[in-house]
Amino acid sequence: MTRSAWYRKIVMVMVTIGLFVSQIGGAVALAASTTPFGPERFAQNHATYAITTRSAYYQKIWRSAVHAWNKTGVFTFKLASSKSAQIKLTTASANQAQHLGKDVGLTEYWAKRDYLIKVSSELNPTLLHSYGYSRSDDLHVAEHELGHAMGLEHNPSKHSVMYYENRSVAIQPVDINGVKARYQTPAGQAS
Ligand SMILES: [Zn+2]
Repeated sequence: MTRSAWYRKIVMVMVTIGLFVSQIGGAVALAASTTPFGPERFAQNHATYAITTRSAYYQKIWRSAVHAWNKTGVFTFKLASSKSAQIKLTTASANQAQHLGKDVGLTEYWAKRDYLIKVSSELNPTLLHSYGYSRSDDLHVAEHELGHAMGLEHNPSKHSVMYYENRSVAIQPVDINGVKARYQTPAGQAS
């Protein structure tokens, strides 16, 4: 074995140990205090939005979800025209709903070098009705989709608005901490 091969092997082992430790550390910290986030974020902790659904009921739901997040102070959604808004909040048509499958909500985004450029969040009225969601359940789904719009990922804990099947839980301190951490962490780095 040559000297350089030795060196490479040691570095490899070090890297493996390093990753292992940071994964364990990360998992413990996340469960305790912070909803996880992905590598993508907006450049600042604010973005513009427009509500484009024609349903007066779902306009209200989206407005309430925006208000609930704005109240936390960690991110600000600012109203803009539907042409210029970075985030569009809408409902799926019956036709689009077929593509959503079993999802009551869906968020899609376009990012450039991990900076979010355009986000679209949809609620699926057909399913929300058929599952018998209440008004507050609908609101929690909208809050969950806005969480994705800011860069949050699913929280394995049920006591988070970002639990993947969340229905009854509103924005929690762990979720507020997640957004705070997302915007204190550079784009490209996930938690
Ligand atoms: Zn989700």
